[in-house]
Amino acid sequence: MTDIPENHPRYFSLVTRELLVKGVKDGIASMQGLIAQGRGEAFDYLLGERTTASAMQAERVAVALMLLAERPVISVNGNAAALAAEKVCELSHVLNAPVEVNLFHRTEERVARIAALLKSKGCRVVYGDRPDRLIPGLSHERAKATSMGIYGADVVLVPLEDGDRCEALVKMGKKVIAIDLNPLSRTARAATVTIVDNVVRAMPNMVAMAKEMKGMPARELSAAVEGFSNDRALAQALEEMMENVMKARRNV
Ligand code: ATP
Ligand code: MG
Repeated sequence: MTDIPENHPRYFSLVTRELLVKGVKDGIASMQGLIAQGRGEAFDYLLGERTTASAMQAERVAVALMLLAERPVISVNGNAAALAAEKVCELSHVLNAPVEVNLFHRTEERVARIAALLKSKGCRVVYGDRPDRLIPGLSHERAKATSMGIYGADVVLVPLEDGDRCEALVKMGKKVIAIDLNPLSRTARAATVTIVDNVVRAMPNMVAMAKEMKGMPARELSAAVEGFSNDRALAQALEEMMENVMKARRNV
């Protein structure tokens, strides 16, 4: 990895890039994943590279939904594994939610590598290497899923997902929680709860919340979910970005 001085003004962003480049070299992330990260970074820049109050609220709602779920599952792609494997496993453990590897650019080798990485970070149950179902409405390779994992889940957390697949999961009747920095994407619009935040910030936040909320009675968790509107959350993210642009405009 390139040595990045901690006092560099773009330290965190650069470290994240290094993690992803390492992910590609290790056969965890795809080349296309680098480009996806670039699109995310652009929106993160507009957001001010911080977790906004509305994102924090969506993270809380998401954790409550996962705790209320009968069969919560965490879907993991190459970028999520490269950027947040440890936190994914911690969340999986606290929420008692298995993990399924789910790749847009699927190769069996990459699935195996990601599954091995997740297991080395402490994930006990990792599905995805032996899919036995197809998600309706998607082409064969992208439709692959596991009955004990995503296919049979009632709530799926997808830190980074493609719009088509997000829509297909919602059509199956699942509650989908997406983490996506782009409030305009199809994923963000189709999901039940969209967290407009960087995966590297959202995952540790959610682990801390899960630990705190785990002992809460169901009615308190339901109260946390009540009144949440995904449209409003997306509008708040857009307003936040527009305000930052206007602030910058005034200073030019
Ligand atoms: P969609 O398929 O939902 O219409 P898209 O095709 O524009 O969106 P994809 O290439 O499918 O986008 O996926 C990349 C998405 O992931 C982008 O919307 C980007 O904002 C988001 N993203 C990339 N990196 C991160 C990250 N580190 N944290 C959160 N979101 C990210
Ligand atoms: Mg897409």
